[in-house]
This record gives sequence, structure tokens and C-alpha cells, in this order.
Amino acid sequence: MSNSENPRPTPVHAAMEQFPVVGGELLVGGMPLSRLAQRVGQTPFYAYDRGLLRARVLELRNVLPKSVKLHYAMKANPMPAVVGFMAGLVDGIDVASAGELQVALNAGANPLEVSFAGPGKKTAELRQAVAAGVLVNIESFREVTELAGISAELGLPARVAVRVNPDFELKGSGMKMGGGPKQFGVDVEQMPELMALIGSSGVQFEGFHLFAGSQNLKAESICEAQQKSYELALRLSDLAPTPVRFLNLGGGFGIPYFPGEQRLDLTTVGHNLADICQRAANDMPEAGIVIELGRYLVGEAGIYVAKVVDRKVSRGQVFLVTDGGLHHHLSASGNFGQVVRKNYPVTVGNRADATDLETASVVGPLCTPLDLLADRMKLPVAQVGDLVVVYQSGAYGASASPQSFLGHPPCVEVLV
Ligand SMILES: *Cc1c(COP(=O)(O)O)cnc(C)c1O
Repeated sequence: MSNSENPRPTPVHAAMEQFPVVGGELLVGGMPLSRLAQRVGQTPFYAYDRGLLRARVLELRNVLPKSVKLHYAMKANPMPAVVGFMAGLVDGIDVASAGELQVALNAGANPLEVSFAGPGKKTAELRQAVAAGVLVNIESFREVTELAGISAELGLPARVAVRVNPDFELKGSGMKMGGGPKQFGVDVEQMPELMALIGSSGVQFEGFHLFAGSQNLKAESICEAQQKSYELALRLSDLAPTPVRFLNLGGGFGIPYFPGEQRLDLTTVGHNLADICQRAANDMPEAGIVIELGRYLVGEAGIYVAKVVDRKVSRGQVFLVTDGGLHHHLSASGNFGQVVRKNYPVTVGNRADATDLETASVVGPLCTPLDLLADRMKLPVAQVGDLVVVYQSGAYGASASPQSFLGHPPCVEVLV
């Protein structure tokens, strides 16, 4: 936003330690970055590390109560190979369109453990969901009526959970998706009417879905939202036609992107969920507790790699011009939900241990000043041909970027 008015270079990031450095080269899935670039055959590319994906799921399994089901919200990274890999590690996949549903089913996800959320589900999408046998998180009265009709027409049950727009917010979230007037879910105030419709319409009620927000690094805020979500679901269970079998308490677990950000304290979240599970065993004994995570599962396992095609100095400021930019990585440019632009962690991946540093800006090839991957960062001194790496790029990267803007070639994605 106000880059040009800010006279000071932005502070240096903490080292990102998930990718080891050997002989100056970042290792991705054990392979030196330069060799990986040869293997991929082009820059720019995204690379996702299987070992890191697996390690993150194991870390969560160790900290969360055994009975909590872990779902992957695939909008964070819908690359089919990633979804296939995650499907083998987590308990379920959350999709938000019929297109994602297709990818999840192709990936081998069990339809009984797939749930479909999102406002404005089209009739055709609802029909696909019923035919597939997945759970639909309904977000309006219309969806209930349509699902009942589809269920009768196909002679198949329409499995539904109610996505509730709660009367509270997830405090300190990068993106709020519940509380206040929202296009997501149905307001808690409308629940008596909605639950009556569900009871009389012939759809199969399974439970509730609450998702308050995203990118949250404060364990206390997440715990508070989970407790409030649990209590709300418990109150609403009185209105339900059948016992609650599914209770999705959302997620919102964040990852650190910017200087000074602290990692989420997972242990505190784990204790809180254990408390909720204990209460649920008594209050709603048939309910399986689910949390749905996107970014937290995949974000830190991915990097974006672009090659330096030019090195320029303008009025004393160094610019590394790369073949990649905001058309592949809108988030890193600061134009995907950030209010004030901050630098993602960036390095030069084939000189990652260099002691020869300079302040440089990394830009892309687009004819717009928005195409900025790093604004005046301390980086290893780089030359044409070097590989700039943007860390924390496994979520909301390729699929969340305007790839055709300005007609440059698309990026490639690899799972290593
Ligand atoms: C986007 C979304 C998620 C994933 O959010 P992350 O911040 O990537 O974890 C989960 N659930 C719902 C309903 C979403 O819309």
C-alpha cells in the first residue's frame, strides 16, 4: 500500500528452518534446489515437501485428543497430488465446490468423510453431492428444500450438517467468517425455523458446522471460539430432530508469515479440545468432533521459486527482477486479504548461507507496481540466474492467483 512512503527497509525475518540448507542450497524433499529446478524443467514453480506435510499431521496427532477428526480444507491447496497425499494422512476432506469435490473423490477420499461447504451451492452441485453420498454443510433454507427434492428424486439420503453463523467472532483473525451479518451459514437466530424445516423435509440431519475465521495465531482466541462453538452447538442440539453425530468446530489455525509473529501454541489448543471432547462424551455421546484445517497443514511445506532475469539499480535501490510474481503468488505480493503490505519470508535459495548481504527488492515481470515479492529486504547478493525462494507458500498460492493477468506463462507445481 504505502511502500514508497516508507523510508526504512522492513525488518529481517526469522530463519525458516523447515527446509535445511546444505552447501548454500535449500533442500526440498532432500533434493538441492538447483537440481530440483533442473528436474522441474522451468521456473517459476511451486514445490511442496511430502516429508513436511506428513510431519505436520503427525505433530497435530500427537497434540490433539485421539478422538478428534482432522479434516483437510482443500481450498488451501487443491493440487490433485497434494490432495491425494493428504487424503491418506487425514480423516476427511472439506470441499467448497463441485470441482473440489471431484478432485477429492478422484484422490480416493472416503465420501462418508467428505463435507461440502460454501454459500450459493448450485442445484447441480447439490445433486452431485447427494449422488456422491457426501455431507452437505447447508448454508440457507433453499439448500434444505432443494436437497429434499433431490433426495426424493434420486432415492438417496441427503446428508446435511447445519452451518451456523454464530453470534460471536474469532478474535484476532486474519479473516473473519462468522459473527455479524455474513453470507456464510444461517444466523443462530433463525435456527428454530431452519431446524423445523429440516425435521419435516426428509433430509438426514447429522450435526453442526461452525467456522469463525482464519489465520489466527492466538491460542486463547481459538480456544474461546471453540468453547463458544461447543456451547452453541449444545444449545442447538435441543432443536435437532435426531442426536448430533457430527460437530465441526472449524479451525483457523494460523502460521507465521511476518517478522515478529509468534507460532500458534498448539499445546494449549490441544488441552482445550480435550476438555471439549470430555464434555461431549457426556452431553452428545454420538458426536464426532472435527476440526478443519487448510493453511496450517500445507502452508509451511511449500515454497515458490522464481529465477532472477535482471538485476537493476534505480536511484541507489537494488531490484531483482524475476520471471515470477503476483500472477502466480498474489498472497506474497500483499494483495490477497492483507490490509498493510508486509514481506513474506524470502531468500536466495542457491545462496542461502551467504554472508554477503544487501538490501534488495524482488519484483516480477508485470507492468504494475503491485508486482512486488519483497520490498527492500536484506538478502544474499544475487545475480541473474539465481533462484529466489518465497517461503510459507504452500497455501493460497497458485490457485489463488490471477495466472492469466498480463499473458505470462503459468507456473508449475511439484510435490517432492
Ligand atoms: C477457507 C476455509 C477453511 C480453511 O481455512 P485455513 O485458514 O486455510 O485453515 C476451513 N473451513 C472453511 C469453511 C473455509 O471456508
